[in-house]
Parts: sequence; structure tokens; C-alpha cells
Amino acid sequence: MPRRIRLRKVVEPPRFKGYRPFGVSSKSRKSVDLLYEEYEALKLADYDFLKHDEAAGLMGVSRPTFARIYESARRKIAMALVEAKEIKTVFGNAIMDKDWYLCSKCNARFNIPDTMDKGTCPACNSKQIELLNK
Ligand SMILES: [Zn+2]
Repeated sequence: MPRRIRLRKVVEPPRFKGYRPFGVSSKSRKSVDLLYEEYEALKLADYDFLKHDEAAGLMGVSRPTFARIYESARRKIAMALVEAKEIKTVFGNAIMDKDWYLCSKCNARFNIPDTMDKGTCPACNSKQIELLNK
């Protein structure tokens, strides 16, 4: 029986869609896909300085699973740096605790309470918004 993949909770989506190295021609550039949950694991452990068991609890996964996601994130970022690859963020097996939107006009990221008008960006009133939870 295939193992069920449990969804990993992400509090907030990354603020970027990717990174590009300087000084590398775009033709030879390759990329690595950084999953949302890998970004979250890296943020919780190395930015927020949480202990692995606390971070695992926040993401709704076991400590060993958290350690695997975290290791994978570090390996991918190290590979991107050393091999001058682009980093692209992709959704992966994540769920977000709220509905997050991205404005494609001003790049604002926001989550809208149910009472608000869901059709426009609160920063610039643009209608060009996309839901980040997929
Ligand atoms: Zn906007």
C-alpha cells in the first residue's frame, strides 16, 4: 500500500516566486523546485529559531518528517548556490491555514477575511489577484 502523504501546514506563503543567480546566462540556467513546506521548515528552524519539535508541531508533522523536509530544503538551496541554479517555489504537499492571495499588479500578498470583498487587492484595488492555495 502506498504511504499516505500527510499535508504540511504553512502559515504564510513565501514572499517570492523564485531567485535567480547573477552572472549566469539565462540559457544555461537550470532550476531547483523548492516546495512551500521546505521553505516553511527552513524559515521556522533557521529564521524563527524554533526547535525541531516545535516547528514539527506547527506544521502538523512528526519530528522525523520535519527533519526530512528541512534537510531537503537545505540541500536544494546549497545546490542552487553551488551550481548557480534558479530557485523556484512550488506548492508541494502544503496546506495554508488561511486563504492567501497574490496581487499580480503590486505583488501584495494578503488573506481576506470572509466579510471583505474577495475580488480586489486591498493595497491597490487591482482585480488581478490569484489565490495561492491550490
Ligand atoms: Zn495590488
